[in-house]
Amino acid sequence: MSVRENIVQVQERMAAACHRAGRQVEEVKLIAVSKTFPAERIREAYEAGLRDFGENRVQEAAPKIAALEGLEITWHLIGHLQSNKAKRARELFHWVHSVDSVYLAQKLDHAAQNSSARLPILLQVNLGVEETKSGLREEEALRTAEEASSFSSLEVRGLMLLPPFSENPDEVRPYFRRLRTLADEIRMALPAATELSMGMSHDFEAAIEEGATMIRVGTAIFGMR
Ligand SMILES: *Cc1c(COP(=O)(O)O)cnc(C)c1O
Repeated sequence: MSVRENIVQVQERMAAACHRAGRQVEEVKLIAVSKTFPAERIREAYEAGLRDFGENRVQEAAPKIAALEGLEITWHLIGHLQSNKAKRARELFHWVHSVDSVYLAQKLDHAAQNSSARLPILLQVNLGVEETKSGLREEEALRTAEEASSFSSLEVRGLMLLPPFSENPDEVRPYFRRLRTLADEIRMALPAATELSMGMSHDFEAAIEEGATMIRVGTAIFGMR
């Protein structure tokens, strides 16, 4: 299957999930996760109509972003960000989904150029409380969101979830639901925090049914890594 055919299939799955949930397809943004794939594959997806791409490492993304300069791409950083790479991340990316500390938010804020627009960020929440995964604990999320929103060059736009891995989307569904509940609480303090980045190739339908506004899809678009 070509990248273009894969994208059509993903869009059909998205439309069906939106229909089941009584949502409009425009409410859910498809982010094509292009990690490990070269710039030519990204260009194919772009030519098939996609405009949002996700990468999880700053160093890997930099040459691809350079190679595709001039295209109207919105780049999303979705992987763990080390604070010493905050400046480079800010130069390359339009969104950062993986903010997991006030310290990192501060580093991103300090990396801002004087005139640059506010950087939209999401806070990554680790609902599984897995030692191996980065992310805030549920009870830290609200306070972190409030502190991060005090940085003038950042805009806290919502939450991101990397749930415990399960083949079965119904086992992941309770985590999607909890992230949504948490986001509803945070939105009372921060009305701009409307985004829920959750759902990957094997479980994005469940995520859409539970309120995802951004899904991060790699394998189903580009094939196996
Ligand atoms: C790789 C990755 C994805 C995409 O996963 P697929 O299963 O290939 O769709 C989504 N989110 C993050 C944070 C990733 O690192």
